[in-house]
Amino acid sequence: MKCFPVILSAPSGAGKTTIARRLLEVRKDVGYSVSATTRTPRPDEVDGVAYHFLSTAQFEQAVQNGEFAEYARVHGNMYGTLRREVERVLASNRNVVMDIDVQGAMQFSASFPDAVRIFVLPPSGEALLARLKDRGTEDSATIATRLRDAIGEIGVIGEFEYVVVNDQLERAVAQVSCIIDAECLKRVNSPQSARIAAETVSVLKAELLHF
Ligand code: 5GP
Repeated sequence: MKCFPVILSAPSGAGKTTIARRLLEVRKDVGYSVSATTRTPRPDEVDGVAYHFLSTAQFEQAVQNGEFAEYARVHGNMYGTLRREVERVLASNRNVVMDIDVQGAMQFSASFPDAVRIFVLPPSGEALLARLKDRGTEDSATIATRLRDAIGEIGVIGEFEYVVVNDQLERAVAQVSCIIDAECLKRVNSPQSARIAAETVSVLKAELLHF
């Protein structure tokens, strides 16, 4: 099977990280690409698990070294997808799930055209506000930046191949899972289906000779 990247993009607070985490629990054929960022770790975040936390100098060095498949400034911090992370997961024969912003999604799929882009929408503006505030991990200036950015992010929803509304976590995870299944079928079964179709036609033609 040819594995492929699955990009989840969403405004901050729409729940894409939770969807990605849950997806990893329910599917063995997906792995997660751990991004690099210059953002300060939140209290529960472990370096190398949530992100590779880098200083600005380290991030710039990684850019110079060509280590990123894409990178962008998001909400005032730098974030980037490390090529080695994507390759690590693909080499283990798993589809690679990435939680990246909309600019990163476009950049990434320009160099990896087989990437599947999924936009995760919150069920409403109120729900997004509540999730961002209840998380309690950002100060009010950071929340304001994220809300402003959310308006721009939702504005490019049309660039995505799929949209999943995260009104119920398990339903959203099931929908993302369906998308992965459909994309697997599209990629894996096309040559197989073409062979079966050709064989079927030749059997039918042979049979017709007896009529
Ligand atoms: P957070 O700080 O809440 O973890 O993430 C903030 C934003 O950065 C989210 O929209 C998230 O998708 C995005 N992000 C996380 N990793 C990457 C990455 O590797 N590249 C890009 N372009 N955005 C990322």
